[in-house]
Amino acid sequence: MTFDRLSIPQRLPAPKPPWHQVLVKSFLREKRSPENPQIFRSCKFKNNISADIAKANASAILNRPAVERIHMQEQAVFTQKTEPVPPTGRFAPSPSGRLHLGNLACSLLAWLSAKSQGGRIVLRIEDLDAERCPRVYADLLEQDLAWLGLTWDEGGSTGGAHAPYYQSECGDIYTESYRKLEQRGLVYPCFCSRSQLHAASAPHTSDGNVIYPGTCRGLTPEEIAEKRKKKAPAYRLMVPDEEITFTDGCMGTHTENLLRDCGDFYLRRADGVFAYQLAVVVDDARMGVTEVVRGADLLSSTARQLYLYRLLGLQPPRFAHCPLLLAADGRRLSKRDGDQSLENLRAKYTAPEIIGKLAFAYGLQPEPAPRTPESLVPDFAWTKVPKQDICLPEGLF
Ligand code: GLU
Repeated sequence: MTFDRLSIPQRLPAPKPPWHQVLVKSFLREKRSPENPQIFRSCKFKNNISADIAKANASAILNRPAVERIHMQEQAVFTQKTEPVPPTGRFAPSPSGRLHLGNLACSLLAWLSAKSQGGRIVLRIEDLDAERCPRVYADLLEQDLAWLGLTWDEGGSTGGAHAPYYQSECGDIYTESYRKLEQRGLVYPCFCSRSQLHAASAPHTSDGNVIYPGTCRGLTPEEIAEKRKKKAPAYRLMVPDEEITFTDGCMGTHTENLLRDCGDFYLRRADGVFAYQLAVVVDDARMGVTEVVRGADLLSSTARQLYLYRLLGLQPPRFAHCPLLLAADGRRLSKRDGDQSLENLRAKYTAPEIIGKLAFAYGLQPEPAPRTPESLVPDFAWTKVPKQDICLPEGLF
C-alpha cells in the first residue's frame, strides 16, 4: 500500500464566489486488470469529491505498476458548495416620480425571491438622468419601501461596501468599462436623429424601440469628422449576428438575435450620459448581484446585457422577469396613473393591505387579505407567479 499526495488539477475553476476552499480527503482504489496486467481499471472513490477532480486524479494515477494501491489525497482545493449559495438580489428603481404599484410589485417579488432563498437585497438608485430623477424622489422611495417592510441590506442612503449606489455618481466607473469596449474597436459614433430613426417604415423591437439598421456603422474617419462639425454623436456598440439564449426564472427560455431583433445599441448619449444597458451590467456585477428580478418590459434588454457581460468578462446573474400590472381596462400601469402612486395608496390603505392585495394579484395568496412581506416568504415560489401580464381586478385598489 502506498500513499501519494496528488497535485491540484490545473483544470479547476478560478477560485471566486460561489467557489469555496475546502479540504478534500479521498481514497482512490485501483486494481490491476486480470486480462491486461498493465492496466488498472477499477477506480473507486471512498468519499465523494467533485467529478472533475475525480476524473483528473484518476487519469493521473492510472497505469502505475502495482497490484492494488490506495491513494490518499488530502489537499485544499477550490470546489463548489453543494448547498445553494444565497442570492444577492436588488431593487434598482429610476426615481423619476413617486413609487407606483408597478415598481412596487417588482420590488416585492425581488425581495421575496431573495429572502425565500436566504439571500440579501441591494438598493441601487438608477438616476443616470439626474435631471429627471432628483434626489427627493429617491429619498421618498426609500421611505415608501421601508414603510412597506421591504428592507434592503445595503445601498441607497444607507451605503455599504459597494458604494456609490447612486448611478449619477458612477461616471468614472462606467467610463472604465466603456473604454474597454472602445479599445476593442466595438464602439462607433452615431449621428442619426430621433426623427430619422423613428421613420414610419422603421422596424421596431418587441418593446417599441427601433431596430437600428447600422446606418452609421461604416462611416469613414473623414465622414465622421465632417458630421462632428454639425452634431455631437451618440455612441453605439456593434452587435454580432448571433442568437443569445437564456432561461428566465419566471418566463422560461428566451432567445434573441441581437443583430436581427435589436441592432447596434446605445452605450452613451450625445450629451455624454451613459446608457442604461452599460450602467446596469457594470453595477450589478460590481455589487455582486446574482439574481435580477424586474418587470417583463426588460426581458428583451437581457440579451444585450448578457452580451455586455461576455465582452467585459463579467459573471452574469440569473434573471427573472415578472409580469406587468395592467389597469382594469388593459392599459399598462405607469407613473401617469397617479391614483396608483404610493402617495395616494398610503392615504387609503395600511402597508399590509397594499402588500396583501399585490400578493393576491400575483397569485401568492388566494384572497387579498393583509400580509406583511415576511409572512409571504415561506410559501413564495416562482411557479405561482403567472407568466402573462396581470389585469388588476376592478376595485382591488
Ligand atoms: N431602473 C429600471 C426601472 O426602474 C429598472 C432596471 C432594471 O431592473 O434592470 O425601470
